[in-house]
Parts: sequence; structure tokens; C-alpha cells
Amino acid sequence: MSKKIVVVGGVAGGASTAARVRRLDEHAEIIMFERGPHVSFSNCSLPFHLSGIVENSNQLIVMNPQRFKKQYNIEARVNSEVIAINRNNKSITVKDLATDKTYEEAYDKLILSPGANPIVPNLPGIDRPHVFTVRNVVDIEKLNAYVKQNKVKHVSVIGGGFIGVEVAENLRLAGLDVALIEFSEQIMAPFDYDMAQILHKEMIDQGVDLNVNDGLAKVEENHIELQSGKTVNTDAVVLAIGVKPETNLAKNAGLEIGETGGIKVDHNYLTNDSNIYAVGDAIEVYHQLTHQPTRLALAGPAQRQARAAADHIYRIPHQYKGVIGSSCIHVFEQNAASTGLNEKDAQRAGIKYDFVYIMPNDKVGLMPNSHPLHFKLIYEYPTGKILGAQAIGKGNVDKRIDVIAAMITMGGTLEDLKELELCYSPMFGTAKDVVNLAALVALNRLNGEFKQVPVTKVRELIENNAFIIDVREKHEYEKGHLKNAVNIPLSELRDRLGEIPQDKPVYVHCRSSQRSYNAVMALQQLGYTNIYNISGSFLGICLFEYYNDHVTGRDKIVTAYNFK
Ligand SMILES: Cc1cc2nc3c(=O)[nH]c(=O)nc-3n(C[C@H](O)[C@H](O)[C@H](O)COP(=O)(O)OP(=O)(O)OC[C@H]3O[C@@H](n4cnc5c(N)ncnc54)[C@H](O)[C@@H]3O)c2cc1C
Repeated sequence: MSKKIVVVGGVAGGASTAARVRRLDEHAEIIMFERGPHVSFSNCSLPFHLSGIVENSNQLIVMNPQRFKKQYNIEARVNSEVIAINRNNKSITVKDLATDKTYEEAYDKLILSPGANPIVPNLPGIDRPHVFTVRNVVDIEKLNAYVKQNKVKHVSVIGGGFIGVEVAENLRLAGLDVALIEFSEQIMAPFDYDMAQILHKEMIDQGVDLNVNDGLAKVEENHIELQSGKTVNTDAVVLAIGVKPETNLAKNAGLEIGETGGIKVDHNYLTNDSNIYAVGDAIEVYHQLTHQPTRLALAGPAQRQARAAADHIYRIPHQYKGVIGSSCIHVFEQNAASTGLNEKDAQRAGIKYDFVYIMPNDKVGLMPNSHPLHFKLIYEYPTGKILGAQAIGKGNVDKRIDVIAAMITMGGTLEDLKELELCYSPMFGTAKDVVNLAALVALNRLNGEFKQVPVTKVRELIENNAFIIDVREKHEYEKGHLKNAVNIPLSELRDRLGEIPQDKPVYVHCRSSQRSYNAVMALQQLGYTNIYNISGSFLGICLFEYYNDHVTGRDKIVTAYNFK
């Protein structure tokens, strides 16, 4: 007898499960229920409608119910909310939102992919008509229409995660004044504070009024009030402070909810009911590196889970590896990507780690569009197991992070990454690619060949009048340098040893830490024992300092910035 497969949710996880089931079983009856008017749309492309990069909102819809029926013989019922699961008789109760009528539909296997809802805080004015969230095509059409029809000039975006940053960028590209409000000290939580400063600079360079360490307190007709008391002129507000898994349906049916608030599933995405699976943003997943339950609202994992769940229905084995969390984002002229654990994650998980921060060019310097690629690699100490990486630059950061994601998934170490043979031609990269170089530097660290201090400690060094050598050439130094750094170019180092003290720590930097590393190695071999490389060097220091200098008006530690 053919199976009856019922799916709740008709977008990333739901539509993918339905399509995979059809490929595995031509005879199955497949019904997919979607509360909204659209199935199978590109959530990830929604923000790009605000700038006009996606000109017409219809382009966001990948498949409609008619095509689902014709091409896949899948019945997609839109405007149909599943309001209950009746586990005893293996049926669901559906409310037809067009007629308000309810009916029951039986299932053999039920797959839940209801996603996650934008969090709406309970604050004064939050239900005003100019407050929006972004989850689906209807939401983005509403926001876009409101902006156009009301000739909106000022928008406040609340929340500096992926959705907030993308919405802020696209509204800014549309010519609006945009304020971005973030409660924590930085936007984009997958990045460490030092790397996030590069994104902060990009935001303010592009004219976004970025407010960190502040939260929304109140929405008024023409402005918002922040927790700090600051008011921001605002004609429209977009809430993007995070998402909450849609678990009511599961909860009411007695399905188990995990400790992180997502639906609890096993390694085959089965809930505690052997006829009900759950996938996507609504579930709790297992983190491959921290060995802890977590949640991960991303499209790639939702698709993989969908396939695995469908396969399990048909007894096709699937090896569950858990998640590592790989993501990327375009922030005006910068691309940013990350995978695995950042420093904060490793600390929280109690994992002993070290990291390197390098910024070689993403292509051979002679090539057009060759730019520095800021790359931070985090590895377990002392095993050298790769834990995570973050990359920011104008070039292909996603390629580098994908390499690291593959390494992490395969349990790779710094030695593996060092030996990884990658393709190369000057237009694409460098013979020693950023990721290989990061492994080399990290191995030098791991083997105790040199000591380093991070960019985050340089201000303290300056304030304590530490001895800092800038080994760039004189003309570079003169364009801008650390306030009390001594200029001894690498090319003169061996002739000017008399100027370098033996009795106190000496900190060395150049532009990107390449020359300073050479200087550190030379000095160590010449008998100096207390030498530190400043990881990130002048470029990294300038980027790290800039945003806070700008917003606080504090004393700068550089005579002039250099960002190139
Ligand atoms: C603006 C935006 C940008 C994003 N950008 C990226 C990105 O760049 N990269 C990335 O990896 N991820 C991105 N994501 C996240 C990604 O879209 C989600 O992780 C993915 O869609 C999750 O799939 P899902 O099936 O769990 O949920 P969804 O795709 O949200 O689908 C769930 C559907 O279930 C329906 N539903 C819920 N309850 C019921 C019910 N009771 N009855 C019937 N239907 C119901 C909902 O209406 C919804 O349409 C983005 C998300 C948004 C909103």
C-alpha cells in the first residue's frame, strides 16, 4: 500500500522533504500544508527586494502549488494552517484560512518544518503600524510598499544579526537614512569582537547610524526611544532581534522539546513519536564541536535535515554528524564568512584554544581587485585540531571558510590544513593560499616559535609605554604610526640592534605581520628572549581601533589610520 506523507510548512525544510519523498516513492500521496499564501520561496533573498536587487517580489517565489502538482504530483495547500496533531489516530487538524473551516487529514508519516518566528518584544508602541518583521514574501512586500507609499526617509533596524544587517544594507542602498540598533557590544555574533570592528567600520563608512550596547525601549510615531535615552528619528521600524522556533503545535501534541527550546529529535530527525519527524529552524540540533545541543536557523542545515528525514522513512541510512554553523554575509563592500567556533564559543564550551589573525592578499598583489583578506583561525591547544575560522574582505571569503568547514567536518588539524593542496592562479588566489598560510603561522605558534599579542591589547601597551618597534619602511611610518612606536625598518634591523632593549618586553609590528614575524625570528636568534609579534599589525590595529575612536571621541593611539 502506498504511504501518505503529510508535511507542515512549505518552504525550505518542508518543500525539500516533500520533493525528496517524491523522488524516492512515485506512489506516495504527499500533501504539504502552508499557512501563508506562498510555498517554496527564497527567504534568504527577501532583504534584497528592499534595494531593488530583486526587482519584483514574484521573483522570490521559486515554485507555486500548480507547478508542485504538475511537476512532482505534490499537493501544496496554501493558506492552510495545521492547528493540531492528533497522534492517537494519526491525523492533523487543518484550518483553511480562506474559509475559516477546519478539517482532519490522516497521515502515515508526518514531517514538521514550521520554521521560526521573529521575536517581538513587549514594548510600548510595538504594535504601531510602522513596525515590521521580515520572515516571508508578504512581510517584505508590506515593508517595501510602506516605505515607497509613505516616502519613508528614516528607518530604524533593531538587531544586528544576519537579517538586521542585510535589511539595513538594502534599505541604505535604496537611499534611506538607516539606524541600526544592537543590544550587545557588536553586530554579527558569529564573529569575535576584533573581527566585528571591520564590519562596524564598513557600516559607518556607508552612512549607517550604528548604535551598539543599546536597545529599543519605545516606539513613537516619528521616533524611537532607546534604553540609553537616545531618540532616533524614525518613519519605520524593522524588528530583527532574533527568531523563536515554532513549537506550539509540537508542544500541544506532547512532542518533546529540547533544552534550547527547539523540538527534540534523534539522529534521524525523529521526534519522540516514531511517525513524526521534525526538521529546520524549529528543531534542536547537536553541535559537532561543543558536543552540546544548540539551535541553528540556516537554510543549508534545513535542506540536509529534510533529505535525511525523507531517507529515513524509506530506510536509507544517513550518517548524523551534527552541525558546525557555517554562514556568510555581504556587508556593502565587504564579504564576511565564518564557520565553527569563535573565541567566545570556545571559552563558553571550556575548550582550550589559541588563534592566529593574518591578512594576506586574497590574490597575487599585481592582479586587479587584489585586497587584504582578514582571516582568523581558531584551533584547539595543544592538539592543533581546527575549531573555527572567520574571514572578512572584498574577495572570496566564502571559498576560504568553506575549506575550513570541510576541514572541521573531517576532523582536520593544522598539519592537514598546511598540506592541503588547493588550486591556484594569480587571478584566484596566491600559491600559498590564505588558509594554508594561516596553518603555517598557527603551527609556528603551536610549536612555540614565537609569542604574540592580539590587536585588542595594543591600546594597553601604548598606555603603559611599552617598547614597540614598527619595522615598516620610513615612508610608511611617516604616513601614520602608533604614537610611541620606534621606527626600525626590517631592512635596517640588524644594523640598529643597539637601539633595542634586552631587559624588557619588545613588541614588533609592520603592516600585516609578515615583516614583523621575520623581525621577531631574527631578534630571537640574535639572543633576544622577550619579543612579541603584534598579530594583525598596523592594518589590524587601525581597523580594531577605528569604530570606538569614532563613536567615543577618545584619544587615538595612531597618528593617522591606514586601512590599505
Ligand atoms: C530574511 C531572511 C534571510 C535569511 N538569509 C539566510 C541566508 O542567507 N543563509 C541561510 O542559510 N539562511 C538564511 N535564512 C534562514 C533560512 O531561511 C531558514 O533557516 C530556513 O528557511 C528554515 O527552513 P524551515 O523549513 O525550517 O522554515 P521556513 O523556511 O521558515 O518555513 C516554515 C514555514 O512553515 C509555515 N508554518 C509554520 N507553522 C505552520 C502551521 N502550523 N501550519 C502550516 N504552515 C506552517 C510558515 O508559514 C513557514 O512558511 C534567512 C531567513 C530570513 C527570514
